[in-house]
Amino acid sequence: MAKLRRALILRVVGCFAPYWRSSLLVALAVVVSSVLGLGTPLLVRTIIDRAIPEHNFSLLGVLALAMIGLTVLSGAIDTGETYLTTLIGQRVMFDLRTRMYAHMQKMALRFFTDTRTGEILSRVTADVGGVQELVTTTASQIFTDLVMVSTTLGIMLYMNAKLTLICLAMMPVFIYPTRKAGTIRRKLSKSVQEKVADVSALLEETLSVSGVLLTKTFGRQRDEVARFSEASQALLKLEIKRAMLSQIFWVSIQTFWAFAPALLYYSGGRAVALGTMTLGSVVAFVTLQNRLFFPLGRLFGVQVQIQGALALFERIFEYLDLVPEIAERPGAPALALRQGKVAFEEVSFGYQTNLPLLRELSFIAHPGQITALVGPSGAGKTTITYLISRLYDSISGAVRIDDQNVRDVTLESLGAAVGVVTQETFLFHSSVRANLRYARPDASDEEIYEAARAAQIHDRISRMPEGYDTIVGERGYKLSGGERQRISIARVILKRASIVILDEATSALDSASERLVQAALEPLTHGRTTIAIAHRLSTVQRAEQILVLQDGRIVDRGHHDDLYRHGGLYAKLVDEQFGQARLLDGTEQGLEVEREAG
Ligand code: ADP
Repeated sequence: MAKLRRALILRVVGCFAPYWRSSLLVALAVVVSSVLGLGTPLLVRTIIDRAIPEHNFSLLGVLALAMIGLTVLSGAIDTGETYLTTLIGQRVMFDLRTRMYAHMQKMALRFFTDTRTGEILSRVTADVGGVQELVTTTASQIFTDLVMVSTTLGIMLYMNAKLTLICLAMMPVFIYPTRKAGTIRRKLSKSVQEKVADVSALLEETLSVSGVLLTKTFGRQRDEVARFSEASQALLKLEIKRAMLSQIFWVSIQTFWAFAPALLYYSGGRAVALGTMTLGSVVAFVTLQNRLFFPLGRLFGVQVQIQGALALFERIFEYLDLVPEIAERPGAPALALRQGKVAFEEVSFGYQTNLPLLRELSFIAHPGQITALVGPSGAGKTTITYLISRLYDSISGAVRIDDQNVRDVTLESLGAAVGVVTQETFLFHSSVRANLRYARPDASDEEIYEAARAAQIHDRISRMPEGYDTIVGERGYKLSGGERQRISIARVILKRASIVILDEATSALDSASERLVQAALEPLTHGRTTIAIAHRLSTVQRAEQILVLQDGRIVDRGHHDDLYRHGGLYAKLVDEQFGQARLLDGTEQGLEVEREAG
């Protein structure tokens, strides 16, 4: 346990190691400013003991000026110190944030499906955000307090040991209430935070589009308002309690604060009267003990602060130490692409190791051909496509591209070789141009237009308010499902990937959109290895190979006509899935014509 803590502390210190020069400067500034702080009480002493009794006005003037000078100087030093601590804190935060983000990018898909998004966001933002506070309020505060306590105590002992001991004897009276109030305050703050989280969770849930829909369609608005008001009321009570506690705490501290000088003036006054101490020393003493009490009080609570800080770093390190499930071998070569042949060799896979989903699948997707995956929902079609891009690794067997195991090549080269068109097209909140260029950052405008033309979306984009500069995505210009799909197709055409994975949309498009998407698919699949999760009759009809999947096994394979004539699962699926489409828009007929023409 102690060893673990030592390792943790060393690691935290390691984060600050690159900034040791600045840290040293901060330490120096703290020491200098703390020594300067002792100057004022000493000046006061000289004023009272010498300048005033001796009527030495020039000395008085010099001392008064020195007082102002000291204040200005320590102000300047403190400013420099704040600059440095902020710099160190922000630098360390920047390092950690960047490292964490880079690490998250390495994590496998499974990590994101298994972790709540809020959790990841909170570690990368809130936890790392706590580091600045740690630097400015914990680390530098502790050091400042230590220096202040030791210098002040030293000079007090030097001036009058007996009075110093009286001062220290009063400490418990001061420290106990401070610590007690601190504990209560921390508890209250925690409750307040929890309540605030409750209220925001409620807001997020009920004021989202789907939440509002639910509330409205069930006529529950009034209940929701009551629920919100209740949560909000709890917060109100807590906040009042917190404010009052702060006030009571300050009043008590101030009262105790008055005790100390009173006692010092009493004992010091006697000493002055008896001639064992000068008046100036007593006044200086009272000023000095102010410098002693607060830092000493804080140092007594330092353990809690350190524990909090360590817990924060523990959470950060925990994420940095996550081992990415899918990583490339050290020194792995880039994928040497030839034609883009994809081969599955007895591949088995399950999301949970004890629950096999794909069982010893073997097939070859040939270059320039379409391999269509067909099967009931949940058969494992999407999962197969995940294994090609190595979003997951197979449990046994091998996935090979041009005879190279996907596990033996770099992830980047694998990503470059495979283009994916998914059902849900994700677009960044950015211009259409930038979204398309994401596929190939060095693409020229002309190449972008060409890809968009091939995907049947160029005309549509040109008609948008600002053409290719129209902002789309999350909160941008709304596009229809078919349009988004065509943009996604254009993106993959632009990428020039040798292997295309196509997850056709299940939701029906109107026949005009449908025809455009079909026209876009032609240039997408042309000359490439295409693996399609087929939901369109046209796709299965064009496919050179259809794999019929059921419960993670290939139960049938072949051409559409043969398979259909064969009857069985395939014929059933085609009738179920495509029967209506065939009737609705005569897609089949359109294709027959196309085929004849080709
Ligand atoms: P299909 O594309 O044929 O409809 P999938 O490959 O999407 O089938 O899913 C196959 C099975 O794997 C389903 O039962 C599904 O619930 C399960 N599954 C899919 N994704 C995950 C995941 N990330 N974690 C665990 N199980 C999953």
